[in-house]
Amino acid sequence: VIPLEEAQRFVLGLCGPLPAAELALDDALGCVVAVPVEATEQIPSFANSSMDGYAVRADDTKAAPVELEVIGSIMAGRPLDRTVGVGQAARIMTGAPLPDGADAVCMIEETDSARDGRSVVIRRALRSGDFVRAPGRDVAVGDAIAPAATALTAAHLGVLADQGATGVVVHRRPRIGVLSTGDELFEGEGPLPRGMIRDANRHTLMALVRRDGWECTDLGIIGDDESALVELFGRAGAACDAIVTSGGVSVGDLDLVKSVLEKLCAWNMRWMQVAIRPAKPLAFGVLADSGTPVFGLPGNPVSAMVSFELFVRPALRLMGGHRFLHRPVLSATTEVDLHREPDGKLHLLRARLTIDGTGNLRVGTTAGQESHQLQSMSGANALILLPDGDGADEGERVDVLVIDADQLSSAESVALTTSHRSEPS
Ligand code: AMP
Ligand code: MG
Repeated sequence: VIPLEEAQRFVLGLCGPLPAAELALDDALGCVVAVPVEATEQIPSFANSSMDGYAVRADDTKAAPVELEVIGSIMAGRPLDRTVGVGQAARIMTGAPLPDGADAVCMIEETDSARDGRSVVIRRALRSGDFVRAPGRDVAVGDAIAPAATALTAAHLGVLADQGATGVVVHRRPRIGVLSTGDELFEGEGPLPRGMIRDANRHTLMALVRRDGWECTDLGIIGDDESALVELFGRAGAACDAIVTSGGVSVGDLDLVKSVLEKLCAWNMRWMQVAIRPAKPLAFGVLADSGTPVFGLPGNPVSAMVSFELFVRPALRLMGGHRFLHRPVLSATTEVDLHREPDGKLHLLRARLTIDGTGNLRVGTTAGQESHQLQSMSGANALILLPDGDGADEGERVDVLVIDADQLSSAESVALTTSHRSEPS
């Protein structure tokens, strides 16, 4: 039995970032920049108004209130070919280019326009630059807008688009093949034959792959059949950047995934007993023919998901070029007693993490903590990390691995959602 960190180190040590490729901007969300991008254009590229109002010469407004002659109107995208002279103003909309001569904008709320629109009273004295967005104030030429190792967000894509970029060079998104193994897996319609079960793991694992934006290939179900597994690993190894299997890695008679990987992976394969519960067994190796890593996850549905979180996801992030591989661990107050027996293992409990009214994190377990009870995982947004020992009492602080931050709601945000819903449509 080996510690979790050792198993993670072994796996990550045999994975590395995928080569770079140019992707269209709109396909690159979440990908990691391989070639840094610097700004070649300043943003804004021209001085423009940050308000709907009047473009003026600040000097003219010193003795406000003052009445100025209105010489025209400027809409966004439609510059004015006239110069604002002394005693003059131009009506201007947000984002419209500041006309020559003007150096400030008075917001419409601080003006009174004459009924014929030919003049305007500016009620407030302005300083040069007021309500003007100066060129380059957001982005200057040479700014690092997407440094190497940046994981691209929606905002990054907007900043790149602002520069006229249509593509960006990123680490290729890993393509992951997912299969289930086991003679007991039944596919198709009709009642379940005696002793058979339906395949849950392939669907949860494919969903976990897709959730992070990676490409997924459904490799189907393979029975407990050595030659079928060999054939599939050969075929999928050539087409995928990584393969994820479930089942066949414990100590049963037909646990063939581990023995097949032992044969196909040569020296760089390990069948590990990790000091965690659930998800103790893990077979991991790199196929000798294709260089493709294979993750042999345990068959129990909760174990398969936990193992994915602990081993597969960090490795796929490494392949995608990410710097931060692991999910965040936070400290939270447990709402329930978490007593356990010392057994040399780190326990990972399916849990619900919430933010209370004062912003503190609280955590409770979801029902059914056996490794086949997948239902308990549906309600979980976190895993409590309970180290070897006697556990924790209600009210104590425990470490929590956040697996679904989107489901981390506070009392307030729940109230917000409710009030939105009750608004008449
Ligand atoms: P194994 O690791 O092959 O011994 O499987 C451990 C347990 O997980 C057994 O009860 C299997 O029936 C179950 N199991 C294996 N694969 C799946 C799957 N794809 N979906 C649901 N349960 C599975
Ligand atoms: Mg099996």
